Amino acid sequence: MTGKYDYDLFVIGAGSGGVRAARIAASHGAKVAVAEEYRVGGTCVIRGCVPKKLLVYASHFAEDFEEAAGFGWTVGETSFSWKKLIANKDREIDRLNGIYIRNLEKAGVEIIESRAVLKDANTVRLVADGREITAGRILVAVGATPFRPDLPGVEHAITSNEAFHLDALPGRIVVVGGGYIAVEFAGIFNGLGAETIQLYRGPLFMRGFDEDLRKILAEEMVKKGVDLRMNSDIVAIERKAGELHLKLADGDVLKTDAVMYATGRVPNTAGLGLENAGVALGPKGEILVDRFSKTNIDSIYAVGDVTDRANLTPVAIREGQAFAETVFNDNPVAVDHSIIPTAIFSQPEMGTVGLTEVEARTRHGEIDIYKTSFRPMKGTLSGSDEKTFMKLVVEPASQRVLGVHILGPASGELIQAVGIAVTMGGTKAQFDATIAVHPTAAEELVTLKEKWQPPAARAAD
Ligand code: FAD
Repeated sequence: MTGKYDYDLFVIGAGSGGVRAARIAASHGAKVAVAEEYRVGGTCVIRGCVPKKLLVYASHFAEDFEEAAGFGWTVGETSFSWKKLIANKDREIDRLNGIYIRNLEKAGVEIIESRAVLKDANTVRLVADGREITAGRILVAVGATPFRPDLPGVEHAITSNEAFHLDALPGRIVVVGGGYIAVEFAGIFNGLGAETIQLYRGPLFMRGFDEDLRKILAEEMVKKGVDLRMNSDIVAIERKAGELHLKLADGDVLKTDAVMYATGRVPNTAGLGLENAGVALGPKGEILVDRFSKTNIDSIYAVGDVTDRANLTPVAIREGQAFAETVFNDNPVAVDHSIIPTAIFSQPEMGTVGLTEVEARTRHGEIDIYKTSFRPMKGTLSGSDEKTFMKLVVEPASQRVLGVHILGPASGELIQAVGIAVTMGGTKAQFDATIAVHPTAAEELVTLKEKWQPPAARAAD
């Protein structure tokens, strides 16, 4: 390929979407370069999903040690080293970073360690050395970055980026935000022994998730010791005598050792030169694309978080793959964003796929709900009173399962498998026809008999 350009494809950003697109395009014979300003692997590998999950594992042990007693174990004195955890986590991230680099090199992709910005529809400029490079196609896969509100003293706050590199585990921390990153980090810090407060400015966190999951997660997190404060927000932060004073909107002052903002992420489009090429942006600064991830400019495409479609690694990977197939293999592929199974590594964990009850009612009117809440078998000896909750959202006419929402141990693993059934258009009858796996919590999913009735309807029976 190439012709009049230096490369067939120039990818900006070596994260989940960019790496996949670069490798697949190269495998179809394209001459490809990818520019990365930080570390190859991107957010998920370097400072997102992977290190986060390792910290979640670490934070579960305190509870495991306690629960072991009911099963006859005497656990001796325990202690925790943040430094050791972070060093081990960093070693693993370095290993993965190396694998990503090697895989790109093996595919014949040139890696350029520099920030890249657009000069025009077919030219990028490397910030490291000012070099200008031309390409037939440019793929913008620059991801997103944590949002920090503009308030006095916000420079004292950390985000998830810094949370992975703190010198020490704070004795006290306040996590601000109500999305999945906020609940996950509140669980991590709480499990590791920090006095943890989570503040959210709305009435109930995890907006967009199923109502029941949101409520039960809040109850369970409080039981585990997280001080959850809804309808609460910080207006100013001050550093005083080695601690942080957080001034709240209601006039209260919270004293803490660290404050972490997890209040959303913004597409990384600032200063990228998109205006030089005339690329259209949406209201949040996201790049607007069509089903094939093409922008309004023929030579420029965008995938992943920068397009703000569904900000998850597997989605960015799919979009990157589909882009490369479409453009470099003459095989148009559009990603279907309608059913996306996902896990939240909160404590307890949650898994969710398809429509929430509210979404299903809005779209389909009448719907059937099946739900159950129980104490899992392990709790009988461990003494834990943590609940497991499961809910099926079913379309009455077709009996199609529109959504499944689970809270409890291993929900993330579970929802991947359930996601297959939901993606295939599985019906309630097909769930019921599946033989149960006993004894598991998951067997509830195929043995839910009674439709749930709102309390008023039940009283009238
Ligand atoms: P990224 O992976 O962010 O990659 C973009 C890359 O572009 C970065 O490496 C960046 O340095 C680089 N870059 C930016 N601008 C430039 C430039 N101008 N020049 C050169 N390089 C540039 N998703 C899940 O599916 N599951 C999870 O459990 C999960 N947990 C998460 C936890 C945290 C704390 C965070 C922050 C995110 C998490 N995510 C999770 C989301 C996931 O990380 C993203 O959806 C995914 O990384 C998006 O991939 P991407 O290719 O769009 O961008």
